[in-house]
Amino acid sequence: MTGAPITLADVRALDASDSLARFREQFDLPDGIVYLDGNSLGALPRATPARIAGVVEQQWGQSLIRSWNDHDWIGAPARIGDKIASLMGAEAGEVIASDSTSVNLFKLLAALVGLYPERSDIVTETGNFPTDLHIAEGIAELFGKRLVAVATEVLPDAVGADTAALVLSHVHYRSAYRHDMRAVTAHARHAGARVIWDLSHSIGAVPLDLHADGAELAIGCGYKYLNGGPGAPAFLYVTHDLQQRMVSPIRGWMGHAAPFAFRDRYTPAPGIERFLAGTPPVLGLAGLEAGVDLMLEADQHALFDKAQRMFELFAALMADRCPEFRLVSPGRAEERGSHISFAHSQAPAIMNALIARGVIGDFRAPDVVRFGLTPLYLRYRDIWDAVDALACIMADGSWRAPEHARLGRVT
Ligand SMILES: *Cc1c(COP(=O)(O)O)cnc(C)c1O
Repeated sequence: MTGAPITLADVRALDASDSLARFREQFDLPDGIVYLDGNSLGALPRATPARIAGVVEQQWGQSLIRSWNDHDWIGAPARIGDKIASLMGAEAGEVIASDSTSVNLFKLLAALVGLYPERSDIVTETGNFPTDLHIAEGIAELFGKRLVAVATEVLPDAVGADTAALVLSHVHYRSAYRHDMRAVTAHARHAGARVIWDLSHSIGAVPLDLHADGAELAIGCGYKYLNGGPGAPAFLYVTHDLQQRMVSPIRGWMGHAAPFAFRDRYTPAPGIERFLAGTPPVLGLAGLEAGVDLMLEADQHALFDKAQRMFELFAALMADRCPEFRLVSPGRAEERGSHISFAHSQAPAIMNALIARGVIGDFRAPDVVRFGLTPLYLRYRDIWDAVDALACIMADGSWRAPEHARLGRVT
């Protein structure tokens, strides 16, 4: 995409040869909106309302409590976990859908430091997603460990004989920087430590092969690229090899080997179910499963290839039409995930103005406008339209209108 300026005809040609184009009609997208925030809340699959309605009306309404067995509500966390496992190069029985990403990190990190009573440090990077930092800080306090948060560049030096756990986002929420999972995991294992990978911005966005990369522990989000719906259950992954040795700090009855034996004493389930806590959120799981089922139909490499083409198109159009924005995402495809971010000192007002024009991205403090590239339902044409709208806002100064200065509670 170098040389002559890109034209609308070029963009149309990209859409015409897009092997993933058929997926767009599987989503219920509002007319007149360019949705570039699917990395924060995935769009609504057309199949989802009927799936959830079926669980509510037929299963809950008619079968009532019998649904736990008759409609396998009880098996949903492991069943959906197995489906997610196949998206990330994990085996059946290594992933479970449960709780939120935050709670799953709490469970895995506590269980992991329990494996290393003699090691003092939990290592992470400064600027990691806030919940990961907060949870790690809390675990450090609870277990009398030291939280060592360092810049990405010096991470390897911070991992050593004192490290119990390394907590990292595989793809960074703001910049889209992607760690080399294999290299980082190998480095940590060499020091005798273990990594918990947060896959929130990776699952359904970049091809994953956790076994091949030697990754043993991970958590991730259900409502971003998996399109599970607002507040959808998250997931966690523990390799078969480690499961027996790790015990959840939240000893809920659903993680018990025999919940309906109603025993006083806690015995963890033998497999991944030991990381369940309370009763599964059946309605949320129905939405998640619909999103995951759709994602399973798409080739993850094709998705990533399209996202990278969209990234290059976005970057080239911005350089051409909005040069005042500074690209903060990595230039090399192997170092990034599936969104694109730019810095601008007036980022909040600009993003508000853009959203008012029907192009939905988001603002990430302090100065970033961020755009999720979700190849399952975006067209190249959407990228063209988004940059066109942004160029118009910058040219006519409409972002300076007072109503765009206010931020909502959620950005
Ligand atoms: C979105 C995201 C989360 C979300 O955590 P919740 O508990 O679902 O709110 C966690 N970590 C990262 C890296 C994320 O991007």
